[in-house]
Amino acid sequence: MLQTLNDNPDYTPAIAARTAPVYERVKSVISEAAWPYFAPDVDEVLRLKRERNAVILAHNYMTPDIYHCVSDIGGDSLALAQRAMDVEADVIVLCGVHFMAETAKLLNPEKTVIIPDPAAGCSLAESISGADIRKMRRLYPGVPVVTYVNTSAEVKAESDVCCTSANAKLVVESLGVDRVMLLPDEYLARNVAAVTDVEIITFPGRCEVHETFTADQVVALRRAHPDVTVLAHPECAPEVLQEVDYAGSTSGMADYVRDHQPPEVALITECSMSDNLISTNPRTRFIRSCSLCPHMQRITMENIAEALREMKFEVTINASIASKARRAVENMLKVGRG
Ligand code: SF4
Repeated sequence: MLQTLNDNPDYTPAIAARTAPVYERVKSVISEAAWPYFAPDVDEVLRLKRERNAVILAHNYMTPDIYHCVSDIGGDSLALAQRAMDVEADVIVLCGVHFMAETAKLLNPEKTVIIPDPAAGCSLAESISGADIRKMRRLYPGVPVVTYVNTSAEVKAESDVCCTSANAKLVVESLGVDRVMLLPDEYLARNVAAVTDVEIITFPGRCEVHETFTADQVVALRRAHPDVTVLAHPECAPEVLQEVDYAGSTSGMADYVRDHQPPEVALITECSMSDNLISTNPRTRFIRSCSLCPHMQRITMENIAEALREMKFEVTINASIASKARRAVENMLKVGRG
């Protein structure tokens, strides 16, 4: 018998009973012994959500307690953007990084959108400014600008259309031109350039998580696990993608595991992704080969509860920027996922 950790005074029989159904969703990644430490906060967030008439949107990189126990909608950036428009609640809590909360606000201007930690940024979003886009337009007059959704509203406002890793090739080709700027993620742009006839102009932005992976790491991984199926995010370098079995967005990777049920899989991306897939794919063994995103990790159950309790931190966007940025996001949504 485990030394009981149920002596957490906040873990009352009533909380145990109320949270038992949600524990079922995470029991493969959170032990019974540890659950008493998670349950009171989960219970509090579920209560506050009802009280505030709020919905929680969670990116695939959120930890399993957030992703499986309290969120209403989960997915990649594109899925969150698409589903954000269907939300009927008064309040949207965006569990992800700041540009995602801005996108939710752009698509739901009349709703209150809050992010539990406004300092949850993104190295890609910080790599480019509106002034950079204007400079690129001067360098390449007449060439349309596609910006990755991992950018600020100010940058989106200077763009023709946004894209995500799930639909970047489709968006680029939808423009019907020979040359396109795809900014700011250099690796995503080079990976798209490898599979399209459209000439792609790049910018030196990088995801600080995905740029750390190397092709040698994938080769070593295969040597250690000869039967492993390797999936990677297209924010990784092209040399990495050449060594893997499938490259796609976080939702693309989730669909691949669900549809193919590989006995052994390694996800070359943020660590929480594997943790979230373990509970829905019990027959697959996940080899940890990941890196943590320090920005995504800023979102915790505690600060979600605090945000709902105090209705902070509300996302606001200057009206003139918002209307132009919204147009770029809506242009992407018209193209869809493909
Ligand atoms: S994983 Fe990379 S792209 Fe995603 S939020 Fe973190 S730094 Fe940005």
